[in-house]
Amino acid sequence: MLDVNRMKTAAIDGAPVPDGAPAPDPALVAKVAELNDRYRHHSATDVMHGALRDAGDIALVSSFGAESVVLLHMAAIIDKTTPVLFIDTQMLFTETLVYQTEVSERLGLKNVQIIRADDIAARDPHNDLHTYDTDACCALRKTVPLQNALSGYDGWITGRKRFQSGTRAALDFFEVEDGTGRIKVNPLAHWAPEDVRAYMDENRLPRHPLVARGYPSIGCAPCTSPVAPGEDPRAGRWRDQNKDECGIHFVNGKMVRIGANA
Ligand code: SF4
Repeated sequence: MLDVNRMKTAAIDGAPVPDGAPAPDPALVAKVAELNDRYRHHSATDVMHGALRDAGDIALVSSFGAESVVLLHMAAIIDKTTPVLFIDTQMLFTETLVYQTEVSERLGLKNVQIIRADDIAARDPHNDLHTYDTDACCALRKTVPLQNALSGYDGWITGRKRFQSGTRAALDFFEVEDGTGRIKVNPLAHWAPEDVRAYMDENRLPRHPLVARGYPSIGCAPCTSPVAPGEDPRAGRWRDQNKDECGIHFVNGKMVRIGANA
């Protein structure tokens, strides 16, 4: 049984700091500033390498979604034992589960950890929580399991990029994760969509099969729809809802939704 009351304050996906969140540790802030200065003009691969070497115990959190294979490939080149955390919400597309297995084998990743909530049967027995409370569903199936899985790490690597949404427009390579004492690393922060495609082409990396079927951003099956030409790539995520990130934070053990775009 997951106990959110044991959880530290956590901010997901770089959304604004909630009221009441503790001030970040000055030493951590200084370390992050120093890392950003050091890697400011470096490549994504250099940032990835530096994160794994200089930022403590770091895990790569991967959804095995449309663009995930880029960071997975970088991690495999640098160190095949890099911890890779894959949150299986048990609402994912079958194609994602198959892709996760195939990509992990092909890249030779040796430390892929599949993370699942252990209280879904009790808290969402009919698997319909997403139909009336997506925030609670994301907290149950994604945010809480992820925060628990990350509790032993000094930081984590994400695939977030500036171009993806307004809430990510100022993303830097290294960030302080509010309230957890962890570092978040965004090696692809400055990449454009064509950089992602070029990297995949040059390295002949396998594509998630749903991309060719109109899904440029892939989450859970009930909350992801195809995107029409010209639409924002993330328009199919929680379509027609006031939500474009998981958006759940934990403040003093309580779940809090942050902002209109959280
Ligand atoms: S994306 Fe949808 S199904 Fe997946 S955890 Fe969030 S609300 Fe639930």
